[in-house]
Amino acid sequence: MNNTGLTRDKSAILLIYTGGTIGMKEDPTVQALRPFDFSQILEEVPELGKFAYRIDSYTFDPLIDSSDVEPAMWQELVRVIEDRYDSYDGFVVLHGTDTMAYSASVVSFMLEELTKPVIFTGSQLPIGTPRTDGKENLISSVEIAAAKDSEGHAIVPEVCICFDNVLMRGNRASKINSDNFRAFRSPNCPPLAEAGISIRYSDRHIRKPDSWDKRPLFHKELDTRVSILKLHPGITPQIVRTILCSTDTRAVIIETYGAGNAPSKEWFLDIVKEASSMGKILLNVTQCMAGSVNMDIYATGKCLKEAGVTNGYDSTTESSLGKLFYLLGVFKDNESVKAGLERDLRGEISK
Ligand code: ASP
Repeated sequence: MNNTGLTRDKSAILLIYTGGTIGMKEDPTVQALRPFDFSQILEEVPELGKFAYRIDSYTFDPLIDSSDVEPAMWQELVRVIEDRYDSYDGFVVLHGTDTMAYSASVVSFMLEELTKPVIFTGSQLPIGTPRTDGKENLISSVEIAAAKDSEGHAIVPEVCICFDNVLMRGNRASKINSDNFRAFRSPNCPPLAEAGISIRYSDRHIRKPDSWDKRPLFHKELDTRVSILKLHPGITPQIVRTILCSTDTRAVIIETYGAGNAPSKEWFLDIVKEASSMGKILLNVTQCMAGSVNMDIYATGKCLKEAGVTNGYDSTTESSLGKLFYLLGVFKDNESVKAGLERDLRGEISK
């Protein structure tokens, strides 16, 4: 762990660098992007020195492109936060954008009753390039991670994604653009804050812990035996059966059409019932960017409900996946997992 040398003792922030574009810098000797030494962050982003915070950094080894993220990394991340929880007021996680929504989602479930901010950010352009969005994203994230109310409590004690001046709940965001600075959207949940001349917090949307005095629960057990079936016209019985009835999974997220609809063909429902009777947990999530599943509107949705499919409401696929990894890790019985899926645990669904 490195201390950047900022000593004025107000808030203390830990920057956790996992990899991704944000920490890259052009290496002129090989004319390629290379991760830079994060202990030198003040050299790259001298603006951070203007904050009266202590800013330390922790760098993952190895640094990864986020396409390579694995559950072990999420577990390490949670361990790093747990071990240092009392020493910092907030945590900023620098992460590649490609899978940031997955990581922010699962980590939101792994951290229960959080009392401090955990802000994920990254960038579309490396921090070492002139038009980088990385500096702005990093500076806003640090400011949000350090923000406290008049009682000294964190203003945003949640796992969030901060990108292009918008603070989103982590388990509500998706990456929607591969080359625009506005890379993330959270269509089913309003921003928790927006950074303009000042940072405007949307207090009524920010979740607070039941108690500020208790330490959070740090869950590290994950069960990743989950797969995703994306419906599309022309999908064959063989493909549906292979995914829904695989003996390697405990749960399948079915990405359905519109308000949670699926083909009404008999073969399709027969396979869903077969999977259900095999003990698979089947979760209905819509392919639409916004809106919710409602299995009571159309006959096709009703059939899924009768076949034992659980409602994913307005959750994103990324969030459903993280929630299932977490719930399956905690509970060995399906009934408890299904009960957990029905509940809003971390603001991930609107009910
Ligand atoms: N491929 C990179 C990653 O996700 C892209 C980025 O950092 O934005 O790690």
